Amino acid sequence: MNFTDLNLIDPIAKAIQEQGYTNPTPIQEKSIPEIIKGRDFLGCAQTGTGKTAAFAIPILQNLSKNKTPNKNIKALILTPTRELAIQIEENINAYGKYLPLRHLVIFGGVKQGNQEAALRKGVDILVATPGRLLDFIAQGIISLKNLEIFVLDEADRMLDMGFVHDVKRVIKLLPQKRQTLFFSATMPAEIQKLAGSILNNPVKVEV
Ligand code: AMP
Repeated sequence: MNFTDLNLIDPIAKAIQEQGYTNPTPIQEKSIPEIIKGRDFLGCAQTGTGKTAAFAIPILQNLSKNKTPNKNIKALILTPTRELAIQIEENINAYGKYLPLRHLVIFGGVKQGNQEAALRKGVDILVATPGRLLDFIAQGIISLKNLEIFVLDEADRMLDMGFVHDVKRVIKLLPQKRQTLFFSATMPAEIQKLAGSILNNPVKVEV
C-alpha cells in the first residue's frame, strides 16, 4: 500500500511526502482508515513500528474538519515521559505543518509559565504527561469537557511507572462521547482490563 491510497487531505499528504515516507507501516495501514472513520483503536505495538504517525495522522485529518476556531482542547495524547511527549509533538508538528491546528506539549520538571501562556491562547492538540496535566486541570487552566479524541500511549509503561491512579483520574474527567485510541507494547491482564473499560468496540491490531 502507498500513502496515496489512504485518501489523506492534501496538506497532510504533502507533509508526509516531505518526511520522505512513501508506504505506511503495517500498523498505519490498519489504523489510519479506521481512526478516520471514527472507530476506537487498540494497538499492541512497540516504539519503532510507526505507532506515533498511526495515531497522529488520522487525528490531524479528523480535526481538520472543524472549521470554527475555538479555545477547546480537542485531542489529548497522554504519554508517560517527557522524552516521548516531545517526540510525539515533533511528529504532530511535522505532519500538521500545512494545517492551522495548534498543538502544545506539557510536562513537569520545568516552570509552568510558558506552558500556561500557550494554553491560554488556545490549543487543539495537547500532548501531556499525567502529573503536569492534572496540575493544570486542578488550577482550572485546562478543561477536557469538549475533548473529541483521547490517546493513551505506552499504557503498560504508564502503569510500570506508577501512573495508574493519575491515568484513571484523567479518564474520569473525559466526556463519555469521544474517540479513544489505546497503545501498549504488551497486554498483561491489568492493561486489558483498563483497555476494556475505556474503549468502545475497538479495532484491534497487533504488530
Ligand atoms: P515510532 O514507532 O512512532 O517511534 O516511529 C519510528 C520511526 O519511524 C520514526 O522516526 C518515524 O519518523 C518513522 N516512520 C514512521 N512512519 C513511517 C513511514 N510510514 N515510513 C517511514 N518512516 C516512518
